[in-house]
Amino acid sequence: MNRSSNVTDPSSAVLDAEPAPLLRVEHLSIDLPGPAGQVRVVDDVSFTVAEGRTTGLIGESGSGKTMTATAIIGLLPAGAAVSGRMAWHGEDLVTMAEQDRRRLRGRGIAMIFQDPQAALDPTQTIGRQVGEILRRGGMPAKEVRRTVIDLLDRVGIPNPETRHAQYPHQYSGGLRQRAMVATALAGSPQLILADEPTTALDVTVQARILALLRRVRDEEGMAMLLVSHDLRVMAHVADEVVVMYAGRICEVGSGREVLNSPAHPYTRALVVSVPAVRSKTAIAEPLPGNPVSPAERPSGCPFHPRCAKAQDRCRSEVPQMRQVAAGRQVACHFPEEA
Ligand code: SF4
Repeated sequence: MNRSSNVTDPSSAVLDAEPAPLLRVEHLSIDLPGPAGQVRVVDDVSFTVAEGRTTGLIGESGSGKTMTATAIIGLLPAGAAVSGRMAWHGEDLVTMAEQDRRRLRGRGIAMIFQDPQAALDPTQTIGRQVGEILRRGGMPAKEVRRTVIDLLDRVGIPNPETRHAQYPHQYSGGLRQRAMVATALAGSPQLILADEPTTALDVTVQARILALLRRVRDEEGMAMLLVSHDLRVMAHVADEVVVMYAGRICEVGSGREVLNSPAHPYTRALVVSVPAVRSKTAIAEPLPGNPVSPAERPSGCPFHPRCAKAQDRCRSEVPQMRQVAAGRQVACHFPEEA
């Protein structure tokens, strides 16, 4: 039965977030140049990241989640056209001057990348890289050294007095990711963007890095936007989740509720493909079909070629975000009961 109620404006597709919103993304669209013209890779995306909370952006490759995070940090590729608004302390990141964005990077908003090997400079010591933002801020050298050693210690890097003078190749994958977390923390940001921060690590190290991210979020009181295709990661860390498909949001809600009782058929397909998210005994059902590229987004609901519940209406009419329960919004003509 379709329990959907009133259709809402996409701008209200925000999370029931307490405490106050820190970043409000409204109607964000991103077009990138392609061989056959501009391609809309993010389409009318709206959500809020609240202070001290972790919001998870979930989706398969090509869903637009990484591009959304890249727009927030201000590192989109040349030729990208951005519209909409990203409200940050009364300013709009979309229209902010590049020199102000540079100042904000690291200090207000910091990013932890998927591959620390690629993100770290192999020719510079870890200590120098972690302390870069402090030096740029005018901190005296002795104090930078002391602060960096303290940061390495806080993220669980053993022997930080010795380790701060070592190079990335002398670190294991897990320690390199910890060094990336220390680099992000150095500027005391209010928001950390973490793009698939554990994908390159083995399972044991993944769990430790996730525990570290949770701890620093709680200790520092910062907000986090976690980008991942991995629902197990989300189940561990995310307070709220935003599910994306083909550049659009298809479901928003609290992490626990969305992962325990998905309302959008795509979210449900993601959840049942990773049974450990809900039950140790459930059997995995592979996701049907392949993700659609934003350049070939089908008419109507973009998920319809892969959806077992698709009907004629789904092929012609784009579903709008609807409230299906308190704090739950879904873009589907025939959602599951939430
Ligand atoms: Fe499936 Fe239709 Fe809902 Fe799209 S709108 S997810 S095709 S039921």
